[in-house]
Formats: sequence, structure tokens, C-alpha cells
Amino acid sequence: MSEKSLWDSKQKIRDLLEEQGIRLKKRFGQNFLVDANHRRRIISALELSKGDKVWEIGPGIGSLTHVLIAKSCDLTVFEIDHGLIRILRDLFDSSISIVEGDFLKTFKETARSTATPERIIGNLPYSSGSIMIASLVEEDLLPEIAVFTLQKEVADRMLALPGGKDYSSFSLVCQFRSRVEKICDLGGNAFFPPPQVVSSVVRLRRRPDASTGNLPDYFTAVHDLFRSRRKTAANNLKNGGLSSRYGWDTLQKAAERSSLDLGRRGETFSREEVLGFVETLSGIRPASGL
Ligand code: SAM
Repeated sequence: MSEKSLWDSKQKIRDLLEEQGIRLKKRFGQNFLVDANHRRRIISALELSKGDKVWEIGPGIGSLTHVLIAKSCDLTVFEIDHGLIRILRDLFDSSISIVEGDFLKTFKETARSTATPERIIGNLPYSSGSIMIASLVEEDLLPEIAVFTLQKEVADRMLALPGGKDYSSFSLVCQFRSRVEKICDLGGNAFFPPPQVVSSVVRLRRRPDASTGNLPDYFTAVHDLFRSRRKTAANNLKNGGLSSRYGWDTLQKAAERSSLDLGRRGETFSREEVLGFVETLSGIRPASGL
């Protein structure tokens, strides 16, 4: 039987971390993927072509990274933990470009100074995974395909449809420029150390008709509509950001013209309805700064 690679052997990972004097940090969600079959499935969901410019968020000790290198990607990885960055340098040297620090603080500058990515992949930390995705959507940096591994509850919100119990402002943010689909669920044993929660792998595929650029009114509308789940759209919008930007009368006019029933609750609106509403709104009086 052939010997297990570093990325498939909990013992080898334990030894490596000990040798390097690294203690895993819960706050960074450091659970490494140790299941080769799941790894293959996740990478194949990315539909890679040779030479694709790929971003990996949180490479850890390189469980997914080494497969991406084998696929001849032009790879940039974002890692916050200095000990793990040392390991990545030892293992992969000049095959990858490493951006050190908090992804949320480094990604915009990286996008400005290098070409924007054609694929993004990440087994994301539980604490900040949803903020990372929302930031990529708002900055319009999600490419044609992105594949993320997250806590199942977060993935359920990304996938949820209007009226469903998991439907939230995060669903409308994730579905704004992409279609979201589930690839698979992963139990705790797929990772070392095993997390207490089930994870899901989701793919975000850019919609052919996706709006480009920043569309602040969409995100403000989504935020306003979900201010209180119990209230109607009218009540939520009246005191929200859009109302102070445009005035309540203009909002009512836009709702009427786009057939948005303000008596409904925010959680019942689809992406298309919200988009139709904000597009009508900007046609009535463009928001300043656009
Ligand atoms: N990709 C590896 C794997 O699948 O085995 C590791 C995934 S682990 C769930 C999450 C990784 O994200 C860790 O390596 C952690 O140090 C890193 N990380 C956590 N917060 C981060 C942040 N804000 N910016 C960049 N990396 C972060």
C-alpha cells in the first residue's frame, strides 16, 4: 500500500505542526481537509482550464493548493497565519504567490495590482466566511465560477429561495450576480481537527445577465427590506437608507411603477423584484455618486 501524503494523514499533519511549533487557532477556523475524494470533487467543481488565474482564500497547509498547482493554475493564495505561511513557502516556494494577512484587508488592493481572478476557491473560516463572500459580491470580484466550503447553515442561506425559512438578506446578496448550487455536504471527519458542524460545498456561477459594477442601491434595498422580518416592506423601507437617499414619496412611486407590493414582507421578494425596483428608482432620480 502506498504511503499517505501529508494532506491525507492526520498524523503527518500533527507532526508537521509540532515540528514547526504551530498551535491551531480556533478563531481562524483552522480545520484542514484530509479527504482526497472530497478534495477531487471540490476542485473538479471549479471547472479549471490550464493557466487560469485562481485565488485561494485560506490555503492552510495546502490541502487544495497542491492540487491546484498540479493543474497548472496561476495561483494567488491569501493566508492570515504566519506559521502556516512559513509552511506554504517551504512546500511550494515560487509556484504560488502568497498574500499575507487578513483577506478582508488585502483583497481589493490585490485585485487592483494584479489581474482579477478567473476562479476563486476557499475552504473558508466559519467566523468570517459569509463576510468574505458578501465583500466579493459587493466589489464585483466574483468570477465566472467560485467554489466555497462553509458551515452548512450558511450555505443553506446562500441557496434559499423567497419565502423559505433560510431566506435572508445574505441569500439576496449571494444570488445577485450568481446562481448558487450545492455540490455536496461534508461531515466532520473529512477534516483535521474535525469541526462540530456539518459543512457544505457550494458553487457560485455568474449569471450571463449579471449586473456589473457596484450597485449600492441593490445592497441598501436588501438591507432595508430585512430590517425586521415581521414588518412589511413599507414599514422597513420607510425608515431605511434608501428612503433617506431618495425620499419616501419617490420610493412609493418606484414601487408602484415596478409593481412591488409594499404590503408584502421583505423575505418574500425575489432578486428580480428587488432589482426591478432599484432600477426603476434610479430611472426616476439617479442616486448621487453613481
Ligand atoms: N484550505 C485549507 C484546507 O482546506 O485544508 C484550510 C482551510 S481552514 C478551514 C481556513 C483557513 O483560512 C486557515 O488556514 C486560516 O488560517 C485561514 N484564514 C482564517 N481567517 C482568514 C483571513 N481573514 N484571511 C486569510 N486567511 C484566513
